[in-house]
Amino acid sequence: MTIFTDPAGDGEASRAGAILTVDLDAIVANWRFLEARVGPASRCAAVVKADAYGLGASRVAPALHAAGCRRFVVATLDEALILRPLLADAEILVLSGPFAGCEEDFPAARLTPVLNSLEQIARWRALAGRHGRPLPSVLHVDTGMSRLGLRLEEARRLAQDKATLAALQPVLLMSHLACADEPSHPMNRRQLEVFRAARALFPGLAGSLAASSGIFLGSDWHADWCRPGAALYGVRPTESEANPMRPVVRLDGRIIQVRDIDAGESVGYGATHLAQGPGRLATVAAGYADGLFRALGNRGCGHLGEYRVPLVGRVSMDLVTFDVTGLPDGLAKAGATINLIGPGNGVDDLGRAAGTIGYEILTALGQRYHRHYLGGSAP
Ligand SMILES: *Cc1c(COP(=O)(O)O)cnc(C)c1O
Repeated sequence: MTIFTDPAGDGEASRAGAILTVDLDAIVANWRFLEARVGPASRCAAVVKADAYGLGASRVAPALHAAGCRRFVVATLDEALILRPLLADAEILVLSGPFAGCEEDFPAARLTPVLNSLEQIARWRALAGRHGRPLPSVLHVDTGMSRLGLRLEEARRLAQDKATLAALQPVLLMSHLACADEPSHPMNRRQLEVFRAARALFPGLAGSLAASSGIFLGSDWHADWCRPGAALYGVRPTESEANPMRPVVRLDGRIIQVRDIDAGESVGYGATHLAQGPGRLATVAAGYADGLFRALGNRGCGHLGEYRVPLVGRVSMDLVTFDVTGLPDGLAKAGATINLIGPGNGVDDLGRAAGTIGYEILTALGQRYHRHYLGGSAP
């Protein structure tokens, strides 16, 4: 990944407190890697919900489309409507399904809802009736998440209701795994068995079970379509194993001020850090309003060149302080940047330091960053 070293050379970037660099080519490479991984019998849709996990769906989705991806997944109707004009012929699946009163927006924008309940199915059937033609949809069956989806016995009854099935025109039968990031968890096999029982009810219908982590459980879980999100964005799919994905995100925070501190002086709100001896601090222009969780206070770290610098004191809304004591002269200075997410400190590392997961780090990234995109297609 190209290192973005000259924020001041980039107009707008020189005004921003921090620069978020998103490598679109790395996202495309990750999608291709996952497609190769699932082999010729399966395909990978691209999950671009939550603004492509905070990275900018209107840049990420067209880059994947240019690379040949033709099936996209979002959570909400609004997300789908933003992407529709950017994705021409591609299929867009909407996970939350049609909410009452919004059904007409789906055929109008050629969107495919995931039908999660008998209630959504009934409204979709009624819509197809009003249109006088079947309208494509995805059937969601629950196999162990207990959030959305039909229970197996509900799916069994639906399978016998040929008139409703004809109106729904299902293109996919999907379910979602609860414990796929733990390969040895018994839930993985149990959910696969329930999913197979559900698939047997709808012969000939394509299936989709695995998200990012499920892809790495093995081919039994791949079915016809996988639905990776996090892995596309460089998040490690399997907790206990090395990360095979290419890093996608880099975050660099600008130093506003470097200051010396005496032994016994305190840092930040709550005075939670006390200097043990004379030292030096760098104050960076990013804080919890930018997605640097308060939980990182006295726990996170950054990198200045090759040096690891501990985050000291609490994270403020707009500022965070690093201990740069003992660094070579001239390295820590106003205008220089401290790397907050990068090679030595990936999204999963930051997640662990904050007591959360890389997913939450990405989706919490704020709106104030200057965003710099590498590669991909022209906007
Ligand atoms: C978010 C989501 C995905 C993508 O999951 P990742 O773990 O990010 O790959 C796939 N399917 C469903 C139903 C989801 O909600």
